[in-house]
Amino acid sequence: MFVMSSPSGAGKTTLSRGLLDTDEEIVMSVSATTRNPRPGEVDGKDYYFVSVEDFGLMVNRGEFLEHAKVFDNYYGTPRGPVEEALSGGKDVLFDIDWQGTQQLKENAREDVVSIFILPPSTQELERRLHTRAQDSAEIVAKRMAKAADEMSHWAEYDYIIVNQDLDKSRTQIRAILDAERLKRPRQTGLGGFVKGLREGL
Ligand code: 5GP
Repeated sequence: MFVMSSPSGAGKTTLSRGLLDTDEEIVMSVSATTRNPRPGEVDGKDYYFVSVEDFGLMVNRGEFLEHAKVFDNYYGTPRGPVEEALSGGKDVLFDIDWQGTQQLKENAREDVVSIFILPPSTQELERRLHTRAQDSAEIVAKRMAKAADEMSHWAEYDYIIVNQDLDKSRTQIRAILDAERLKRPRQTGLGGFVKGLREGL
């Protein structure tokens, strides 16, 4: 379970897309949210866009692996697709906030690898949010205020990446994923040499 958190505008979406495009062994967890779709967002691909009522029903039915209120909306990770992917031997990438990361770690500590992506500076973060221009000025101001809160949780993460240079950040994320996959406890399901060693051959 590979978690990437950051304040909006730190470049997390670009970085996670890069990983998904180049690695067939990792799949994205598609969250459910009660917020409205932004232009270009596709239901079922970027998010499952649901009503507050439906979200509440999903919570009550225990359908979420974790869920949280972020800004003024609810977000949650549907449990089924994640469990299916994991039992099929895939890694799962999560784009969730610090609250969701804490919940995942409480439930599956050793299986969670978490990365916090920081912008180079708060000025740069504000500039990126403005140029993205998908949100209204009011929402940008709100997100800036929330960014400080989100960033205050950076120390709860396993890895920190300051996203100054996109290529460098990509390489660093790749390195983390590769190294984590090579950790001894994660080699249990493998055939070949490692399996032979475990069987005392
Ligand atoms: P946005 O509305 O910009 O897509 O996302 C806002 C924030 O919600 C981001 O920090 C994102 O990581 C977080 N988020 C998205 N999906 C989930 C989820 O399923 N659970 C939690 N806890 N946070 C989420």
